[in-house]
Amino acid sequence: MSTFVLWDIDGTLIRNAPNGGSLYIESIEHVTGVRPTERVPDPHGMTEGQLLLAILEVNGLDTGRLGDVLFHLDVLSREQHERGWVREPCVGVDAAIAAVADRGWTNALLTGNGPNRARYKLLAAGIDPELFDWTHSYFGHESPTRQHLTADARQGLGDNEAIIVGDTPNDGLAADSAGIPFIAVATGIYEASQLEPTSAVVVLDDLESGLERLVEAISRSAGRASAGTGA
Ligand SMILES: [Mg+2]
Repeated sequence: MSTFVLWDIDGTLIRNAPNGGSLYIESIEHVTGVRPTERVPDPHGMTEGQLLLAILEVNGLDTGRLGDVLFHLDVLSREQHERGWVREPCVGVDAAIAAVADRGWTNALLTGNGPNRARYKLLAAGIDPELFDWTHSYFGHESPTRQHLTADARQGLGDNEAIIVGDTPNDGLAADSAGIPFIAVATGIYEASQLEPTSAVVVLDDLESGLERLVEAISRSAGRASAGTGA
């Protein structure tokens, strides 16, 4: 049995971009011919597919074009990557990923992004994508909600232990629905005090100051699995 640490990307491994949604707007405009102006009230923690659908809906656009929008988003993401796009990693990411690997646990991804976009984001932030097990990573670009994504992960990982690291209450709810423990890190838009009411086994201010507590929390989860008492 292995222990999989499932990392969210935006706000967890990589700092949120102030204009993070601009590619969504461009992609929808390209496909529908209309530039969306209405914003989705609470987009954080939504999957990419869910957010794009919501933008189409609140702007009165054809939701049947979601597949085309996702396809074009991949095109725009590649172009952005080729232009030398740069993103800022969250503090302590390298050491946290190394600490997980050093202990024999597996780093993997659980993100609302599609796999191409996830790879470009990591590269843009100087994080080596090969540090993650892509076979056991879960991408929510076609998931209607984050709960669908965590259900896929739970099923795909079988009897292996898993723990999710994320930055939003939505990440916690999605982890709960699949019975996966959740570690919250306050490097996205939510502060630690806003993440405390979630089911998080631990809430970290960031991965640097919280490294020891991160490792302890994963150890407890992994230990419970190897003790055979179930999660
Ligand atoms: Mg996030």
